[in-house]
Amino acid sequence: MNLTGVKACGGGSAMLRFRMNRPPRTRFPSPLSLPQGLSWSLLSALLWLGLASCDFGTGVRQAQFIVFGTQVDVSVRGVGEDQASEAFAQLQQDFLAMHRDWHAWEPGLLHDINEAFASGLPARADPAIVEMVKASQALEALSGGRFNPAIGALIELWGFHTSDYPVYGPPPSPLAIDALVAQRPSTRDIQVDGLLLSSGNTAVQLDFGGIAKGYAIDLACQRLRAFGVENAIVNAGGDLRAIGDHGDRPWRVAIRDPRGGIVGSLETRGDEAVFTSGNYERFREDEQLRYPHILDPRTGWPVVELSSVTVIADDGLLADAAATALIVAGPAEWAEVARTMDLAEVLVVDAEGRVFQTPAMAERVDLVEGIESETVKVSVAP
Ligand code: ADP
Ligand code: MG
Repeated sequence: MNLTGVKACGGGSAMLRFRMNRPPRTRFPSPLSLPQGLSWSLLSALLWLGLASCDFGTGVRQAQFIVFGTQVDVSVRGVGEDQASEAFAQLQQDFLAMHRDWHAWEPGLLHDINEAFASGLPARADPAIVEMVKASQALEALSGGRFNPAIGALIELWGFHTSDYPVYGPPPSPLAIDALVAQRPSTRDIQVDGLLLSSGNTAVQLDFGGIAKGYAIDLACQRLRAFGVENAIVNAGGDLRAIGDHGDRPWRVAIRDPRGGIVGSLETRGDEAVFTSGNYERFREDEQLRYPHILDPRTGWPVVELSSVTVIADDGLLADAAATALIVAGPAEWAEVARTMDLAEVLVVDAEGRVFQTPAMAERVDLVEGIESETVKVSVAP
């Protein structure tokens, strides 16, 4: 199945409309050599890219990538075809490297680091992983342990180290869950010395599923800027970061409704990221219940009380981690955790479909007709 953007040039709601049609053309050279251990067939399974480029109306050029099993749409405005093609070719390489190095369960750099941690040995990381570890340490502390990418062993125990959802079957045994929680894996256990990582706790297993998309999108924006692109949007299925604008109007983005369709839409303002954590697509299920893929690290059990949380923040890494942290915080605590994490723009949908927003978010979101929201005050520093 190929998805091609059909409204790459023109309307502000370009990224909301896609049509399945002919295979898109690839207009730039494929990488000539592949990273070690990657076959061409694996490459095409991991990552397919097409460039649907056009240059009328607002002059938006678009490319699609598959990263971490998700389609990533990149739109750039205000650059020529050659410049866009070069930037897209570099992004292809970048995304491929991220997929290989950051994967939580396929062989690769992160996998090697986790094996070393389990054996009490140090391991060499790369700058991006070191950056994610450091950011995670700060975010775990700020979120009161609700965002904690050191719980990879728990995520694996629940069967969530897979791309095939839903996962079928009963939950793991409470004893096994409790045994892992009792070891209190935390990013605090990780010492960073340059590129060398070591963990004082053999139960630490890194899983960047709650942050990787955000950081990948940040790096993609950084890369685009280095190629002279000043206006772009990098959109991974509704999780996105925008830089600059979309011609005479901002980029317009949709906020998905956990029950289908969209809750509303908003216009981006300059450089910012919009991320949603949802409990409705990836889960385990047995005859009785659904167990979503986001876990409360303090109990080891999936969180079910909120269906989705959307956060706007300055960068993708923060927005991605924060959305995960707030969905774990749940209805009673999300506003308080938003305050400690300094998040002014949050929209929450609870399990009954009720919508709650901070005042700053409510000011920006156009809810679709028939959807009502309650405003919840979060006092963050201006
Ligand atoms: P989405 O899948 O909607 O993007 P998230 O950004 O919240 O949702 O990412 C969910 C992923 O984050 C899970 O698949 C898992 O890899 C990881 N994860 C689950 N629970 C936590 C948690 N409490 N803290 C950090 N990462 C988590
Ligand atoms: Mg997240």
